[in-house]
Amino acid sequence: MRRFVEGIDRGQATLFPECLEDWVDEDNPVRVIDAFVDRLDLSRVGFDGVAPEATGRPSYHPAVLLKLYIYGYLNRVQSSRRLEREAGRNVEVMWLTSRLVPDHKTIADFRKDSGPAIKQVCVQFVELCRLMGLLTKASVAIDGSKFKAVNTRDKNFTRGKVVDTKHHLIVTHEVTNDGSDRAQLASIACQAKQVLGIDELEAVADRGYYSGAEILACHEAGIEVTLPKPMASGIEARGRFGKQDFRYVTEEDVYVCPAGEKLAYHYTNEENGLVLRRYWTNACQSCAIKQRCTTGKERRITRWEHEHVLEEVQKRLDKNPQAMRQRRETAEHPFATLKMRMGATHFLMKRLPKVATEMALHVLAYNLTRVMNIMGIQPLMAAIQA
Ligand code: SF4
Repeated sequence: MRRFVEGIDRGQATLFPECLEDWVDEDNPVRVIDAFVDRLDLSRVGFDGVAPEATGRPSYHPAVLLKLYIYGYLNRVQSSRRLEREAGRNVEVMWLTSRLVPDHKTIADFRKDSGPAIKQVCVQFVELCRLMGLLTKASVAIDGSKFKAVNTRDKNFTRGKVVDTKHHLIVTHEVTNDGSDRAQLASIACQAKQVLGIDELEAVADRGYYSGAEILACHEAGIEVTLPKPMASGIEARGRFGKQDFRYVTEEDVYVCPAGEKLAYHYTNEENGLVLRRYWTNACQSCAIKQRCTTGKERRITRWEHEHVLEEVQKRLDKNPQAMRQRRETAEHPFATLKMRMGATHFLMKRLPKVATEMALHVLAYNLTRVMNIMGIQPLMAAIQA
């Protein structure tokens, strides 16, 4: 006999499990959210209202609203109105909130007013990952990506997303509407080092982050950065020798040019706050390959007083040519996943601080999902409760 799978009669009396606990199995991710939030010291993290007020209407404990938001960002339900609806009809949320159904205004106000604390929750999860031994490799990739803002006028970007290179976790992140990466390297790398609680860190970034001052700041902070130099020099585009074609000889303090001539040091001056040393030779006038080098009287090479730091960066890159491919593979995974989860409209809220809160929730949801996939629900629960 040919037939379809049949549903039940809607008028039939049904015996649902009497206990909400029976609706949520042992491997349900909501159990991880519940255990993680319960483990947090919410007042230390910075949430208001952890202790009930002596007078007035009872309010919702911040743990309830935080659990609701983490659930929402894990399941692509980011709007406060949709979260309110889910709280009234979704058994997982009912379990998570003990059947509390806050109204959408309460839910929205919580996200609006708890930005710094929510960012700290994100930090706390990375700390937990560190304690669980997921961030043992002192190696991170730094990258940035543009994310669409609600208002096109005030474009938002997230910058300096740092991910560990082993498990593709986001160690730290920063939201900015500055379109350039240049001034971000040291601050984001130092944040990563602090979060990981280590003395020395290896960081790989793309050429957009290349800035002498930032690389020097990283060097002084014990962070070994590897990144390529931007190929922006007009002189190379015109087919002439670039600075990399001149070899510096430390012992003699000279540059050796492609014709084998030694460019000696002549004087030092300061430009835009940088102390620069100038080198040249008088042999240029009679040089057979001068047309490939300079149109001037002689070719001059400039050396920053901390140029050796940049040379070490280049040496590291030459030694590990795979570093950039590794960085791309490491950083692209979180960006692609985050954008897919965010949907067509990346952020719901306007203004940088609120967008930063949303980003923190997205990053937390991303990291939670990664760790659940890496470890499995039960071992993660056990580690949280340990
Ligand atoms: S032009 Fe001067 S610096 Fe350039 S290759 Fe010739 S000698 Fe060397």
